[in-house]
Amino acid sequence: MRHITKDITSPPTALTSNNCKRQLKNIVTTRKGKKATYYHKKTVVDALNILYKNKCGYCESRINVVASENVEHYRPKAGVDQIDLIAGTTHVGYYWLANEWSNLLIACPKCNQQGNKGNRFPLSAPNSRVVNPPAFLANGDVDLIANRYTSPHIAGEVPLLINPEHKDPIPEFLLKRNGDLAQKNNSVFAEKTIEVCDLNRQPLSTARQKIIDDITNRINRQIKEWKADVDPLTDAQFKRQLEIIFSDIILRLKDDRQYTFVAKMIIKDFETLVLSGVENKFHTTIEKYFNDFINTN
Ligand SMILES: [Zn+2]
Repeated sequence: MRHITKDITSPPTALTSNNCKRQLKNIVTTRKGKKATYYHKKTVVDALNILYKNKCGYCESRINVVASENVEHYRPKAGVDQIDLIAGTTHVGYYWLANEWSNLLIACPKCNQQGNKGNRFPLSAPNSRVVNPPAFLANGDVDLIANRYTSPHIAGEVPLLINPEHKDPIPEFLLKRNGDLAQKNNSVFAEKTIEVCDLNRQPLSTARQKIIDDITNRINRQIKEWKADVDPLTDAQFKRQLEIIFSDIILRLKDDRQYTFVAKMIIKDFETLVLSGVENKFHTTIEKYFNDFINTN
């Protein structure tokens, strides 16, 4: 997951057009979020893909190579899964947010499938769940500003699913050496997000672990060259080789790379994630080179 900066005050014009407002009014009147069509207009999908770099907002996998992206409604538009509701109650969904820019993100079909995110939307206090849309404006139009997630109308809900646009996810998570995510400081937000989007499914954990393993293996190969009996690397050559590896970690931070989260965590926690796979006696040297490099790049 990567923090996304979106200007919620400037939606693509398709979402503020008179036709869209008319559709929304009809949706609000009939309470049928499924009727919405403007959220998947090409200009909206394109604008989201620019922000999300065509990666899933939850797992950071690149989508368009093998599948079509889902325009995901953070607050589900046509029903909330029973598991997140108070027993005995139902919710027809946040239908009034079906075409709302601040409610849209990009998700991959795996994170978003039924059984994972689907219609799930857990809250820290389920009895605070908003069930009705904001009132129409005095002129009878839908109040688009009141539909933004920052509006008092909805801001009393504390969602447990992390929205990458609402908060920096990095402080909430830990990354383990096997590629699994865990919650940091008992973050209930991270815990629920991992559960809802199934962020520790095997292929994802394996992909994250592979990044860590590749870096560790490359460092170990250079140590071998440095300590070789025949024609070993000099200290300066060894340092240079490590810097090439460290630059590759920095390159992995680029927004369009998959799993930038892993590179960020490696930089934050180099000791646990990388050094733990290197022989103890080399830790001090490598850590010093790493810190020198990070502080100057
Ligand atoms: Zn995903």
